[in-house]
This record gives sequence, structure tokens and C-alpha cells, in this order.
Amino acid sequence: MSTRKTPEQIDVMRRAGAVVAEMHEECTRAAVPGASTADVDRAGREVLARRNARSNFLGYNGFPAVICASPNDVIVHGIPREDVILHEGDILSIDCGAIIEGWHADAAITVPIGAVDEESVLLMDVTRTSLEAAISEMQVGNTLGDLGRAVQGIAEGAGFTVVREYVGHGIGTAMHEEPQVPNYAGGPNRRFKLKPGVVLAIEPMVNAGTPETLTLDDGWTVVTADGRRSAHFEHTIALTDLGPEVLTAPR
Ligand code: MG
Ligand code: MG
Repeated sequence: MSTRKTPEQIDVMRRAGAVVAEMHEECTRAAVPGASTADVDRAGREVLARRNARSNFLGYNGFPAVICASPNDVIVHGIPREDVILHEGDILSIDCGAIIEGWHADAAITVPIGAVDEESVLLMDVTRTSLEAAISEMQVGNTLGDLGRAVQGIAEGAGFTVVREYVGHGIGTAMHEEPQVPNYAGGPNRRFKLKPGVVLAIEPMVNAGTPETLTLDDGWTVVTADGRRSAHFEHTIALTDLGPEVLTAPR
């Protein structure tokens, strides 16, 4: 149900991952008070052009941008817009990807816009930590259930909740491959055993309040049902003979 990648294929995915890391760096630099989320998208487009990479977001089911820009109560799939202006105190999730020679990488970060409230700082820290915990569970012989349990334990241990409707995924010659990777313990594929060559995009979405989601009328924007904030961190990770390697890590 999932293809295992060769070391040579993982080499190409590592190059796609480096482009994604650079997009995050430039998008984060552009995400300042007064900027629009379209400005942040333009920063991502410049990196893709400079690195001769293609976007796996642009045109995906008609998606109009190279990043998803999801402020505050937007969980995922926010569409960059000229009239969505970032303000001091906001948080912004930036999700983006790149294709090099047909191989995909995909990653997300949530960044503060200037100084943000304490709960938002904790929400971002906890979500990032839950991703790191899942990555350290990405070992040969462990299962997808182990990854989900790691995320859920940390998120709920901090008093937050884990989104169920959206999950991580295998990745390779397509952005979304089998298996689906839930961010909770008891989900589908929980017995799926990890083997060398498996490459996953693990992507916890953690909410400050209820885990329930709503999709807005634009058909894309997914928000928290209670209007409280959400954070999203994602990496593309290859399981090699040496253990997990984060292909989208900042350089
Ligand atoms: Mg993503
Ligand atoms: Mg993804």
C-alpha cells in the first residue's frame, strides 16, 4: 500500500526538501505586520523560480497559490489574498511544497507575527514538539499508531486537541500517497509497520479549543468550529537504515 523509495530517489526528494525549507525561510521573512498573505505567497514563488522547482500546490484541485496561508483560527488550506493583512499578535501557518525531477516534498510551519499572546506561543511550541516526538518514533518496526500516539499524547497532555479530519500522508512521485498518517492513536492504518524506504509527511494540526472543524464557502479554508487558534507543523521524513531523516529540515 505504500511504495518504498530507493536511496537515489530519496536523494532527489532531499533536493525538493531543501527548496521547501528555503521557501519557509523566505515566507517567514515576508510574514510581518502590514504584509498580505499574497505577499507571503510571492516570496514562495520567488524561491521556486530561483531553484527551478515546480509547485505541487498551484493548480492542485484548482488551488490558486504556491502556499497555503492559514492565520489564527484557520487550521489549513487558507488561500493567500491581497486583502488578508497580517497584524501584530497574529499567528500564521505556512504550508508549501516543491517538485524536483518529479519528486515531491511538503512541509508546514506556524510563525508568530510580531509579539503574540502566551497561549499562542504554547500552542506553536506544543505542536512543533508533537511533530518532533512523532519523528523520533519513526523507526523500523514501529507502526503508524506509534506516531499518532506520540502526537496525541503531547497535544492533549498540554490541554489542546488534535484535528481528526485532516491527516499526514505518504509522499513521493505524488504529494499524497498511501498510507494516510493520522495524528491520533486509534486511527486507520495504526498497525501499518514502518520499513526502510518509507517516506511520510507527518503533519499535526493542534487546536487550542475544540478539535471540530468547519470549511468556509470558498471550499478550501478550514477553520476551528469555536474560532480559537490552531497551529500546524509538517515535515517530509524518509526512514533510512540509519533512522528518520527530515528531508525538509532548515539548512
Ligand atoms: Mg503540507
Ligand atoms: Mg501534507
